[in-house]
Amino acid sequence: MFLPFAGCRTRCIFCAQHIQTGAERRSVALTLEDAARQLDLLEGDAPDLAFYGGTFTALPPEDLALCLDFTRARLKRGQIRAARCSTRPDCLDAETLRALEDSGFYLLELGIQSFQDKALKRARRGYDGDTARRACAVVREAGFALGIQLMPGMPGLDAAGAARDVRVAAAENPACARLYPCLVFAGTELAELWRRGLYRPPELAATVSFLAWAISRLQTAGIPVIRTGIAYTPELEKKVLAGPLHPALGNMARSLALFCRIRKQARRLAAKPPLEITIPRSLQGEFWGHKGELAEKYLEIGIDRRGVRWGNEGEFILRASEDESPSELWKNAPGAGDHVS
Ligand code: SF4
Repeated sequence: MFLPFAGCRTRCIFCAQHIQTGAERRSVALTLEDAARQLDLLEGDAPDLAFYGGTFTALPPEDLALCLDFTRARLKRGQIRAARCSTRPDCLDAETLRALEDSGFYLLELGIQSFQDKALKRARRGYDGDTARRACAVVREAGFALGIQLMPGMPGLDAAGAARDVRVAAAENPACARLYPCLVFAGTELAELWRRGLYRPPELAATVSFLAWAISRLQTAGIPVIRTGIAYTPELEKKVLAGPLHPALGNMARSLALFCRIRKQARRLAAKPPLEITIPRSLQGEFWGHKGELAEKYLEIGIDRRGVRWGNEGEFILRASEDESPSELWKNAPGAGDHVS
């Protein structure tokens, strides 16, 4: 359920949530009616009910009560498995957290965006890095799984700051992370800054490279990145004035992250090309990159199309084709990260 801007005390300078989510601003009661209709039509396994958009834990009390009553009732009927929500790190009071727990919520995602004071101030988020870190602890100590959302490229955040954010997020050991590179939406204050030349978003290539590094870094820490970039629709092209908007952004970043892990293993193997690699079938859509853009890079490390096999699930296996002794078999360490150059 998307509740754009519901419960928000301020408007962050980059936020155009109604455009991002495609959901119109409606009353919580009407949105719940819609959700009820959809749940009544669902067949098969009960899904999670997720409340996103706005600031869920700061909803007006009557709206929050409606959402929690709705969640408890649907849980009781077995129409949903559990519930989760996203919210701001400075809106977590003990009473609300208890009410969420009693209503079947198990995952709280924090729209942290950055842990860097300078960037938070420039985006007028209304909290600082310490508050964001404390919020992670509050969520965990209250017994919820923690999700962290970051926004690389936001104003006041350079590449070093964005990398620090990823390291801090990894140290908080969340159950999942989402990476939403900053975009300039029409109608926002950020659009005005961009027009006046006071903000310039990172280029697409730099963003993909950074995201690939971030995905590797988080996966190395055992943290799944469950979303990279906002969900693309062609209409967004007209509403996003600047920034790394691309329909395959997540795929490009994951593909590059995978390539970097394979390149790292190839360097360790230090064998003469050509190399052979067995890749899990589930990675078939990512291996060569978007429109095959990584084929040349693979050639540079000695892997051409003839050397690629598709295997069962698990990790990739890289070996020198001229020597198949077991000592030459390299199975990559799960999530072994590599810096993207
Ligand atoms: S970014 Fe979050 S807190 Fe800020 S205005 Fe948008 S929905 Fe509200």
